[in-house]
Amino acid sequence: MAIERTFSILKPDVTARNLTGAVNARIEAAGLRIVAQRRVRMTRAQAETFYAVHKGRGFFEELVAMMSSAPVVVQVLEGEGAIAKYREVMGATDPAKAAPGTIRKDFARSVGENSVHGSDAPGTAAIEVAQFFAGNDIVG
Ligand code: ATP
Ligand code: MG
Repeated sequence: MAIERTFSILKPDVTARNLTGAVNARIEAAGLRIVAQRRVRMTRAQAETFYAVHKGRGFFEELVAMMSSAPVVVQVLEGEGAIAKYREVMGATDPAKAAPGTIRKDFARSVGENSVHGSDAPGTAAIEVAQFFAGNDIVG
């Protein structure tokens, strides 16, 4: 399988509980390399742009408010089949439905405060990476 890059966010519920290192340990244990990483406080506008695909859904307001409520850690992860691999390590969107040993099963608070984001396809990964990182910020 090809080496890919995916975009990751450690969400506000992770930074609030000082779990950045614990989540990064899960990422690295899965064989994914953190090739770029920055802690940022997203503006409301940045969160709206990032989750524009969900505009109009019932949870959009709650999602944008949550993502801009406290610092997040934005990352680029690299590895074989990184997009699908990270989605597997994250677990299902709803932690109640997430498999044992996944980040969301072990750390997420709820379907909204679900600890991590990971890109769902190569096209979205490229767009999401470009929203937060310039090419020379990524060192593989
Ligand atoms: P992400 O895009 O963050 O990686 P995902 O692809 O598993 O998560 P999506 O369906 O894309 O899930 O939803 C995006 C995010 O919106 C979820 O991660 C969660 O934070 C929030 N969300 C989704 N469904 C709900 C809901 N029913 N109530 C509250 N928040 C929700
Ligand atoms: Mg998604």
